[in-house]
Amino acid sequence: MSFDHPYGKPVSVFRTTDNKEVIVEEEELETLFGHPEIQDRKIVIFSTIGAFRGGKSFFLDYCLRFLYAHFPSINNPNKKSQFIFKKNENWMGNKDDPLNGFSWVSGTKRDTTGIIIWSDIFLHTIDTTGEKIAIFVIDTQGLFDTESTPTDNSRIFALGTLISSIQVLNLKNRIQEDQLQYLQFATNYAKFNVEQAGETNENPFQNLTFLIRDWENDEDFAFGIDGGKQYFEEEVLKIKPSQKGELISVRESIRSSFETIECCLLPHPGKHVSRIKEYDGRWSSMDEEFKEELEKIIELLLLPKNMVLKKVNGQELTGMELKDYIMQFFKIFQSDDIPETLTIYELTVESNMNSLIKKCIDDYKKTMYRNRELISNEESIQIMHKNCKDRALELFNKERKMGSIDHEEKFKAKLNSEIDSIFNFFASQNFLSQAVEEEVARQQALLDRET
Ligand code: GDP
Ligand code: MG
Repeated sequence: MSFDHPYGKPVSVFRTTDNKEVIVEEEELETLFGHPEIQDRKIVIFSTIGAFRGGKSFFLDYCLRFLYAHFPSINNPNKKSQFIFKKNENWMGNKDDPLNGFSWVSGTKRDTTGIIIWSDIFLHTIDTTGEKIAIFVIDTQGLFDTESTPTDNSRIFALGTLISSIQVLNLKNRIQEDQLQYLQFATNYAKFNVEQAGETNENPFQNLTFLIRDWENDEDFAFGIDGGKQYFEEEVLKIKPSQKGELISVRESIRSSFETIECCLLPHPGKHVSRIKEYDGRWSSMDEEFKEELEKIIELLLLPKNMVLKKVNGQELTGMELKDYIMQFFKIFQSDDIPETLTIYELTVESNMNSLIKKCIDDYKKTMYRNRELISNEESIQIMHKNCKDRALELFNKERKMGSIDHEEKFKAKLNSEIDSIFNFFASQNFLSQAVEEEVARQQALLDRET
């Protein structure tokens, strides 16, 4: 659903095409960041990122209501900036007005993967310094979508991370281990690009806020930013003694990528919001508890004193500089360096797949070995081989994997042919030769070590 907004509209600036290219709308970027009123201001980029149908646009549209209630903008210049907070102030406007702004969907139609900027830009003057800043609002579509490959995702995520100064990562129910791994992966990808551009910052990115929707465990961790902080520190980031090196490195790498990380737990908004097809986003139809928490987190994120200016290499950039930075960065994305960047990704996927293949082949060999007594003639050899191979392939299918469907197909074919050549070797040795005996002894030693 989308309703016309009097002051702005969503403008697509990056999008992925069907053949996996990322397209930039340079003219749109020029118009937005090069606007005479914006080009010399320091910039705040407030963005959300997360899977399709996670309630991101809905959240952003309420953020827009908050911003329009407090700041002048390019298209609403006469609004007076007002930041003395009154209790129960009514920034969300008329409670029965349909929600407008970024389009949001109550069906299951998927928007394209990409980055969308709100065309109107908010203006603010910092009281203490008199410094003029500009606030951009960005919606990023596609992270953790099942239909996008991790490569598409990490490019868009990397771009989103590079551009934003406050990044809201919108997730349903909880933070999952694979989402953390994914986040690490995408921030490393963004970091790699930053390094290519000559930066050497310790925490290259500014704020990351996990926004967990439909939180159900409020008895363990209360709604809001304090419960979120506790959940994040105690359940998500904490490295337990039993955890493997890989899990530790994921956590350390995320911590070291951002200057600050927050987490906020939101209650379920109520059936009306999540189920009614014709729901138009109005404030009055949401559960009270949700409204309270939504109000708090928006006020917290968008209060001028909490706003984080976009920094690159420790320097705060102006609109024009930021636009140049984005383009420079985008060129690295498109240039010959990109295969190198992808190599990092490919190598990670490859090493993950190869260890899985090794595990499956070991399983094949062990089951063949364990059942060797049952092999008596050519037919039983074939049956045994088929059963053990099916078991190994099932193991491959079952385990969690990195990479896309294409990777999965490629490595499954590799597993298939490796098992066949092991079998051919055994078969050619007639299962009785010296070579087979040696292999059997080796397998036995491995088994002994395991048990
Ligand atoms: P986006 O694709 O992430 O931008 O998601 P939308 O903002 O378009 O919202 C998708 C659907 O989720 C809409 O039907 C909203 O009414 C609904 N929705 C919004 N916020 C929430 C929430 O916090 N929880 C649930 N369960 N649904 C929500
Ligand atoms: Mg959306």
